[in-house]
Amino acid sequence: MGSLQLQSVRKSFGPVDVLKGIDLDVEDGEFVIFVGPSGCGKSTLLRIIAGLEDTTSGSIRIDGAEVSAVPPARRGIAMVFQSYALYPHLTVKDNMGLGLKQAGTAKAVIEERVRKASAMLSLEKYLDRRPAELSGGQRQRVAIGRAIVREPKLFLFDEPLSNLDAALRVHMRLEIARLHRELKATMIYVTHDQVEAMTLADKIVVLDGGVIQQVGSPMELYNRPANLFVAGFIGSPA
Ligand code: ADP
Ligand code: MG
Repeated sequence: MGSLQLQSVRKSFGPVDVLKGIDLDVEDGEFVIFVGPSGCGKSTLLRIIAGLEDTTSGSIRIDGAEVSAVPPARRGIAMVFQSYALYPHLTVKDNMGLGLKQAGTAKAVIEERVRKASAMLSLEKYLDRRPAELSGGQRQRVAIGRAIVREPKLFLFDEPLSNLDAALRVHMRLEIARLHRELKATMIYVTHDQVEAMTLADKIVVLDGGVIQQVGSPMELYNRPANLFVAGFIGSPA
């Protein structure tokens, strides 16, 4: 279970209207990609879904239930950031398990989930290392592992591969596609990268000017872009 409905979601920072009425349906298990120019509100929209930011108005439902007043930890969501946001003084194992520990999860359950997630992410050999002793790709895997152990209904990724070099980006993109198949979870993923968008997405959401310009499958956007902005995104080289 992990469907999401946004209705007339608006967000202003002071006089600036960043999101001007977002309506979106995400089905359980879908892989949805948000694209749009820098500053158009992609991260703000993810933060609103996660509960890290309030809406100015509008409704957010997860599996049919309104969550606007539900705190982030109770939304069944886990978010992965571009910057990894790992604790430098904690080992890989403890970084991955910290959220569960803080939520009062039993130690044996934490250990089992960390073991499973680290196997999925080929991190078994690194569990006792600290983030400084890992490569960029391994750090991002730890950040993804920390999300997986929480067993969320909904994963939110904010440009998770932007800090990695091109070869590693391709590798991690394939890993994320595999995780989506294995976990069968709903994933919402922000990227600047056309190849990521075209290959990962069931559905691409193009944002600009505070509104959704178009929603469709990669082929629909490619074959029938709604306007020049969408055509430019699909057509221009990365
Ligand atoms: P994107 O992720 O698409 O690049 P963001 O969601 O980060 O865009 O930002 C959208 C707009 O909202 C930008 O103009 C940004 O400056 C503004 N913004 C984001 N967060 C805040 C905040 N906490 N206070 C004021 N303005 C903000
Ligand atoms: Mg952003």
